[in-house]
Amino acid sequence: MDKALLDLGDDVQSQHKKLKEITDRMNQLLLEFEKCHSLFTHAKNEYNQYQISVLGMNLVGDLGNIYDNRDMRLKSVHQVSVCKYGNKCGHVLRNRYCKFYHAPCDLHDLLIAKKITREYYDKTIKLKRNFVNTSWLYSPNSNKDVRHIGSAEKLPTELIMLQNTNQLEYEYKELEARIVHDLLVLKQMDIVRNKPI
Ligand SMILES: [Zn+2]
Repeated sequence: MDKALLDLGDDVQSQHKKLKEITDRMNQLLLEFEKCHSLFTHAKNEYNQYQISVLGMNLVGDLGNIYDNRDMRLKSVHQVSVCKYGNKCGHVLRNRYCKFYHAPCDLHDLLIAKKITREYYDKTIKLKRNFVNTSWLYSPNSNKDVRHIGSAEKLPTELIMLQNTNQLEYEYKELEARIVHDLLVLKQMDIVRNKPI
């Protein structure tokens, strides 16, 4: 609870009342969010991910967690980067948990080829793509967990650079995941702002 929301000059009774009001508002908000999720369900594809059409593009993704980059070594931080081994990942092929992200459509290929079990597939596609907070930081540095494209005046140069270094597809998939995440956040904000609590 944000202590700044409470006036330190109040007596204990009125502080208790304010605390209860804030808790009630937060519970109402959580209920709204649950309603949002059920509203969005129809936008899910066969892999249980959101599929959104924008400007002739079919964007696929989900609402993930955003971790602080100082916490990246913690065990609780997972599915932030795409697994560099893809469908050759030793963990996945042994039906074991992989700390890195595997897209459900890729896992589906392994399921069809009978390289993973149905039980493992069903469990693993529930692991959503998560993010690190620097994913939204626009910077030319080589860190793959930042955004490398998007400033209008530099866009043509950046596109050519990404194409020449074979990074265009990677950068597209990264931006796609973040945009779907942001659209879902924006939609939830839109619903709450149109129906203030
Ligand atoms: Zn892996």
